[in-house]
Amino acid sequence: MNYFQGRVRADGDEVCPKCGERRVRAWKDMKDDEREFVGRVFRPDEGERQRCMWCVLCWEEVRDDAPRFV
Ligand SMILES: [Zn+2]
Repeated sequence: MNYFQGRVRADGDEVCPKCGERRVRAWKDMKDDEREFVGRVFRPDEGERQRCMWCVLCWEEVRDDAPRFV
């Protein structure tokens, strides 16, 4: 999976690298049903919930940390 490719920031809004929509949500900003879905599919641990965001449209995972591992 290409976490770091195609990441675009525009006016502070995270744009989904897959579908291009600004529907990327941090864990804390998700609704309960969205969290349930992400939790089931990605099984994020506590750290990943802090660092990662997910597109609620196509469920692409978007990492919000610096691309140290590229
Ligand atoms: Zn998307």
